[in-house]
Amino acid sequence: MSAQPEQMPELSALERYASAVRTKILTSQADLDPKDRIHPDMAQWCTEHGNIVAMTSGMILTSDPSSRDVQNCKTIMLNKGIRPGRVMAATPGLVSVLIDNIDMDAIEELRRAETEEEKVSNQQKRLRLLVQEAVNLGISDIHIEVREDVARIRFRKHGEMYLHAEWFPKVAREIASVAFNKETDHATAHFNPYVPQNASMPMMIDGVELRLRLASLPAHGGFDMVMRILGSTDSDVVPDLHELGYTDAQISIIARASKVPHGAILMAGPTGSGKTTTLASCMSMIEEDRKIYTIEDPVEKFISNATQVPVNTDKEDRGFASFGRASLRMDPDVIVLGEMRDEDTAGVMVRAAITGHLVYSTIHTNSATNIITRLADLGISPVLLGDGSLLVCLIYQRLVPTLCPHCKVPVSESQDHQPYLSRWQEYFGERFSGIYARGKDCEKCNNLGVTGRRVAAEVIWIDEQGREFIQKGDTFGWEKYLRNNGWQSHREHAIDLAAEGISDPLDVERVIGEINSAYAASSFNYAALSE
Ligand SMILES: [Zn+2]
Repeated sequence: MSAQPEQMPELSALERYASAVRTKILTSQADLDPKDRIHPDMAQWCTEHGNIVAMTSGMILTSDPSSRDVQNCKTIMLNKGIRPGRVMAATPGLVSVLIDNIDMDAIEELRRAETEEEKVSNQQKRLRLLVQEAVNLGISDIHIEVREDVARIRFRKHGEMYLHAEWFPKVAREIASVAFNKETDHATAHFNPYVPQNASMPMMIDGVELRLRLASLPAHGGFDMVMRILGSTDSDVVPDLHELGYTDAQISIIARASKVPHGAILMAGPTGSGKTTTLASCMSMIEEDRKIYTIEDPVEKFISNATQVPVNTDKEDRGFASFGRASLRMDPDVIVLGEMRDEDTAGVMVRAAITGHLVYSTIHTNSATNIITRLADLGISPVLLGDGSLLVCLIYQRLVPTLCPHCKVPVSESQDHQPYLSRWQEYFGERFSGIYARGKDCEKCNNLGVTGRRVAAEVIWIDEQGREFIQKGDTFGWEKYLRNNGWQSHREHAIDLAAEGISDPLDVERVIGEINSAYAASSFNYAALSE
């Protein structure tokens, strides 16, 4: 028997949908509640799409239930403060009749009737809905990119950006103003899209007090505003080092360091590499009977066993160095200096460590051994750096996206990865078969292909030999010595993540550069390049 799929009209998909949700297909206006009409705030959007209408009751009528427009419609409704109702199948004829009947003039009239006060409270509502949605989705940053013709709302999750919604620029401008002028701690500040601005915004979502950091920057045709969701200061659970991705060997070094009575444990990595989270989980390894002060900008994670002190880096007398010095007078055992950006703060770190305290701090460098070079830049002498009472342990970390377990595919099956397969095959040998790549079209991960991030880290315990290399300034010899003693670099750690099918090798290469044997070879073979 031969089927005749060609003659099956569009209706079959509609019928399938209607029977799945147990309703009939709506075919005429007689099927609708006579009081229900297209929602005025959605009229413009529905006109532009043509296959979907959102009603004042919240009901959504679509002639194409499988289209992405259905989800987009719900998102836009939420952003406009309208609660989406049932999605109903309707014939293309009915949808176009409804759209043709929209009276744009009447809608404009309605809009104008909205008083200034209502407008502000509506925008506050929209802002709250946007933040609520982002929080529910586990988003770290909300990017609002306002340009002349459109405002794009993009979300960052696990380090990846994706488009969440598109708004009219006017709406986005109003929401940005409301955020800065009505919701922030310093509501005296007036939002000006032509200069960079920043502010802090508290917001209660589902009974939990959250904090958002707002920053804006002018852009060609508009401006960008980024809202970072810092999370609540009292409900956040700090993950342990194992959950963050540290290996057992690395954790045992860090645990050992946290029991040392005095000295410095320093941690490096670029901005956004999760240093704050790692520091917070290090604090949970400290014995209960030690008094901890953390000097932070801003306080991001709640640490139950510490006194957390927020600094204001705009004001010199309230920065890391001056609050660090002040904490030294408070009978501390452990001091966390959020960040060493200048000589002054580095000096406080050294003084605290050599006067009998355990100090944790972070610094921007691109490897653990380079922490030494950076400290020398900050004016600390090699003799002091090599002193037995100063440095205890050095940590460096990067974050690598981890694959979604629902859609990852063996790397040899991924089209995007074909050009690199032979290189990886050569490098990984037998381990090649365990490598996976990002999949596509997966609802569980919003089509990102990844569901989280893990650290690729290196941890150095400073031993006698290490101190000699530090005093000589011999980073190269030191790393060679470490390798001979079975030390794992962050590069090797990251490569293991690919080999074990935890991370996509392309994501790994984005963090550490190309995976090949030439990179780690002690002598680079130039002739091989032209082979
Ligand atoms: Zn997935």
